[in-house]
Amino acid sequence: MNSKTVNDCFAHDETLLTHKEALVKLLAGFSPIDERQQVALEDAAGRVLAKPLAAPRNIPAHTNSAMDGYAFRFADYDTKTGTTMPVTGLAAAGSTLTGESCSGGAVRIFTGAVLPEPCDSVVMQEDVELSQSQEKPLVTIPPGIKPGANVRQAGEDMRRGDVVLTSSRRLGPRDIAAIASTGTTTVECYRPLRVALFSTGDEIIRPGAPFEAGKVYDSNAAMLRGLVATTGAQCDDLGILPDNIDAIRQSLSEAAKSHDILLTSGGVSVGDLDHVLAVLKELGSVHLWKIAIKPGRPMSFGQIGDCLMLGLPGNPVAAFLCFLLYARPVLAKRAGESWHPPAGCLLPAGFSIRKKPGRREFLRACLQKDKDGGHVVVKFPRDGSGLISSLTRTDGFIELAEDVTDVRPGDTVKFISFAGFGV
Ligand code: AMP
Ligand code: MG
Repeated sequence: MNSKTVNDCFAHDETLLTHKEALVKLLAGFSPIDERQQVALEDAAGRVLAKPLAAPRNIPAHTNSAMDGYAFRFADYDTKTGTTMPVTGLAAAGSTLTGESCSGGAVRIFTGAVLPEPCDSVVMQEDVELSQSQEKPLVTIPPGIKPGANVRQAGEDMRRGDVVLTSSRRLGPRDIAAIASTGTTTVECYRPLRVALFSTGDEIIRPGAPFEAGKVYDSNAAMLRGLVATTGAQCDDLGILPDNIDAIRQSLSEAAKSHDILLTSGGVSVGDLDHVLAVLKELGSVHLWKIAIKPGRPMSFGQIGDCLMLGLPGNPVAAFLCFLLYARPVLAKRAGESWHPPAGCLLPAGFSIRKKPGRREFLRACLQKDKDGGHVVVKFPRDGSGLISSLTRTDGFIELAEDVTDVRPGDTVKFISFAGFGV
């Protein structure tokens, strides 16, 4: 790997960090991978652009008509009275002009056709009247048409040399359209990240295994596979680590050799059976694992060699939230992607709570219509971070800053929808 992760940037392992401090420290500790690949346009959706794309020519390349209608030279037209003129030619999209261009006459023109010189304006076909004089077709253009009407100028969208897309952008369908419009067939992208996913815990079994007393079906692996997929990374689901330090050591050290990021859930608290932290300390380093948020603690960040490791909490809601808050930006930065969390919106609260100061809280919440047709945001009635039902019955979360101590109905709160994260 030719980009280094930086151990020294993570100093606050044992300190209780605020959410923002944690994010800053976390993201300062490593740089993007710098392995690039040429990617065919048809495979480029979801990939991160590694080199800006400049327009090789004007787009549109030619001045052309924005409407089906009649092209004419504004100098031949009386804007006060309107003008009747002969139709002298025809211009269709993708074809050369048939007949003659307009010198004192008009050209029948269709959307996208190159505007024949010296025409400079187009009147919509719905606005004209057609007639005949001595077998010649005539068009009457009404008064009030503006110079340059219904004309798209060459280069009005992008000029030759303009930046079409900046690097570090993760390409979506809109970007692919822009690349295609330049005629480009391949783009330079970063290699996709390789993420190794582990669940942990002797109680965890995979769906499909017969249910046994004391066991819990693994919901985190399926959820995290889906979350990782939204980032464009490749995900190898490497199964469940037992609560056994030797097995964990063996699996994590092996996976670190062939992956950019290890993503685990569970096993990172200080309980006796939580060995992930111990292994991480032994094989590499643990950087930071106490963050003043709810839900979320405990979680860990570390690295084994150049492989970053994110140890998410075991409780599914906390794992989900910590993925969005911390793993998502880490994956983005490591992948070379410039990424910003969704901005969220300010909405009136439709509930009341009291809150401990000093920690940032993320409340699962639903949008509800109020009686005036606006929206209020309502907290999910229960708080447990193991409540999977709360994930499917809510629309997003409310973020309450450290200094907030209570929320009353009508107070403005910040609501961030899950859809803003693409999940
Ligand atoms: P831990 O962090 O390992 O102490 O786990 C905290 C809680 O999350 C425990 O109740 C675990 O059973 C539960 N848990 C851990 N991993 C998973 C998983 N993959 N799927 C569902 N629940 C889990
Ligand atoms: Mg566990």
